[in-house]
Amino acid sequence: MPSAAALGLCPICHTLHILPYSERLINLAAEFCRILEKGARDKTLPPCPPPFDKADLLPLALSNEGKMVAICEFKDGTFALAFSGQIHRQYGLKGFAPHIADHEALADIAHRARVLVNPITDKIIKLQKNNGSPNEIAALKKERRQISGRLCAENQALYKIANQNGQLKSLPEVWTPPPQYAHHGIPTGVGDCALPKILQWANLAGKRPLAAAEFWWGGRENANTCWENGTIVPACAEKCQGIMGYLLCPV
Ligand SMILES: [Zn+2]
Ligand SMILES: [Zn+2]
Repeated sequence: MPSAAALGLCPICHTLHILPYSERLINLAAEFCRILEKGARDKTLPPCPPPFDKADLLPLALSNEGKMVAICEFKDGTFALAFSGQIHRQYGLKGFAPHIADHEALADIAHRARVLVNPITDKIIKLQKNNGSPNEIAALKKERRQISGRLCAENQALYKIANQNGQLKSLPEVWTPPPQYAHHGIPTGVGDCALPKILQWANLAGKRPLAAAEFWWGGRENANTCWENGTIVPACAEKCQGIMGYLLCPV
């Protein structure tokens, strides 16, 4: 078992902020996974006990997309749930922490990416098939890279990260990756994992986290996954750790 649910170097305090596991949450994560397996098997779910009673769990249970699922306990005795990424192309699901970035703005960028990038890709494929000029192909690839880079920057600008006092900063301002990722840029998808969604929501709602646990849900028939359903996994080093320090910062 990893030592903590999440940790990250704080860009403000320059110390490590840690969110621990608790036995209670490890047990609740196991119960959560059993509920999802039941939903996947029966294609329906009876009313669930708290803290699962307010959430729309069935779409998650029926998803084979491969998700990290997080559960967090707060000092006021309440709980929150979240899943990573999207489910059936939806960012939100009743009873789960919302996505950090604005959904409509994200959808707009994705739409523009399709409209701008796909025709260039089609042209490149056509030229490659017909032995087109290498210079022309290279120029199109460069144009495509520039457009993607612009859209990616626009996408990242939609993510404003909150500390425990609700103070928002941009991704580049808070990004403090572990040493092995320090030489890469900020990867796409930072902030889309499960636990950052909960902490962002909690920080803006004035709730203080006590402990958390994240587990893997690969769905029922998904044999092709990295972990078994219910495996407890700490927040990832590649994307989450770089923003965890600020998300967990009480200053
Ligand atoms: Zn992550
Ligand atoms: Zn701090």
